[in-house]
Amino acid sequence: MVSRVIPVDTFDLVIFGGTGDLAHRKILPGLYRRFVAGQMPEDARVIGAARAELDDSKYREEVRGALREYVDAQRFNEDHVAAFLSQLHYVQIDAQGETGWKDLHALMRDGVVKAFYFSVAPSLFGDLAERLHSHSIADSASRIVVEKPFGRDLASARALNQTLAEHFDETQIYRIDHYLGKETVQNLMAVRFGNVLFEPLWNAQYVDHIQITVAETVGVAGRGSYYDKSGAMRDMVQNHLMQLLCLIAMEPPSRFDPDAVRDEKLKVIRALEPVDPTDIVRGQYEGKGKSDSYHEDVEDDESRTESFIAMKLHVSNWRWAGTPFYIRTGKRLKARQSEIAVVFKDAPHSIFGASAGRHRNILTIRLQPNEGMTLGVTIKEPGPGGMRLIDVPLDMTFADALGPDNDAVPEAYERLVMDVVRGNQTLFMRGDEVEAAWAWTDPIIEGWQGNDDRPLPYEPGTSGPEESAMLLHRANRRWREIRE
Ligand code: NAP
Repeated sequence: MVSRVIPVDTFDLVIFGGTGDLAHRKILPGLYRRFVAGQMPEDARVIGAARAELDDSKYREEVRGALREYVDAQRFNEDHVAAFLSQLHYVQIDAQGETGWKDLHALMRDGVVKAFYFSVAPSLFGDLAERLHSHSIADSASRIVVEKPFGRDLASARALNQTLAEHFDETQIYRIDHYLGKETVQNLMAVRFGNVLFEPLWNAQYVDHIQITVAETVGVAGRGSYYDKSGAMRDMVQNHLMQLLCLIAMEPPSRFDPDAVRDEKLKVIRALEPVDPTDIVRGQYEGKGKSDSYHEDVEDDESRTESFIAMKLHVSNWRWAGTPFYIRTGKRLKARQSEIAVVFKDAPHSIFGASAGRHRNILTIRLQPNEGMTLGVTIKEPGPGGMRLIDVPLDMTFADALGPDNDAVPEAYERLVMDVVRGNQTLFMRGDEVEAAWAWTDPIIEGWQGNDDRPLPYEPGTSGPEESAMLLHRANRRWREIRE
């Protein structure tokens, strides 16, 4: 397979928070990979900006260290790194003060794409937006990229949208949900809308139910103070899982363009029914030893924040009436695994009799590890002994199909940053989508605050509380296994 790299216009990309964890771990390694793939123009510039007292040369050394740590060893090439670093600059700046803004203004070029990545705490977004304008650094063609969390409820998300809207048009705002940058997630749209095979079956008549699982093995140690104010619902469901659900459930957009796609996603969020409290299971990991527990990680024995949540959801429209969506996500689970499973209904009648066995077709879309898709197809078990049915996978693992070193499969952040440069908002959340998601989430969270329920304890290294399995057992269904 030949790698196809589509060139982008040259750019000045300013990373506010260019010395932070996200810049080091994701944004800069992603840009480096695009550089190696030949997609970053030779005269493009990346400008790190933060309060730390650094100059270009010290910043480049710092970034070299980050690349060494976070780029695959086989892609870390000294010549490439040196050439990439030569395109990096640094401005010492204070989002809340006047330091550095004149320097940044002097550094920016006219006639190139100007993008500003707000990789700082959301409380600084307003300050940055305002100063970019008061110092005439941003113009009507500039783009800003904002990170999650986008608010912690509807009111704060609205306030944030309004603050940004004072200085930037919606077409200039790129709200990142890095799940949307994953190859498989986009492939989901290609599979649904590029084939005739699936779409006729993609509805309540043929789909029994859908499962979305985002399982993590890590706990919250190290970021307990942030996480404890958030919990799985705010940290994962309101954004990542909701976006995945939208892509599965949405109607075909008329075109693959930003507003057509986002209009359809918005309709799905608005069609989500309020959730019955008995269809929600909240959990908190609690090991045998105290050092293995959520409470220890957040240093609060009384915390009621969930590190696990499973829910049964209904999208109330013609396509999905009667087909439940089961979603779950959690920390300290058995394995790191994200997948969507579309479980089709049984064939209406078995001509082979009960002894042959029966299998359902399941389309599994794996986000991690091993991005790819598998379709379970029922065939005859080979050999003598009559008709016995088995389930075999039609498997498409992208690394196998496209080659492991293929630069055509960029990671989420590198793809999304290049989309910003291209001016393509399709894979970014629109302001009204984010608000609609909070409008659905808020009453659920408020319901917990109004009662004394504690999350159910679960053993680290398991699939979450037993009660999560019951959500499906009640309807004679079961979760797909979280595999190690
Ligand atoms: P971080 O490691 O704490 O870095 C914060 C950055 O902001 C640093 O470069 C810091 O540098 C800079 N900064 C702080 N105050 C500033 C000011 N007044 N003016 C200019 N720069 C300032 O945070 P992070 O983990 O990289 O997260 C950045 C954003 O991404 C946050 O909104 C976070 O929620 C989001 N996010 C992070 C991750 C992740 O994996 N890290 C994942 C998803 C979303 P100085 O202190 O030198 O100024």
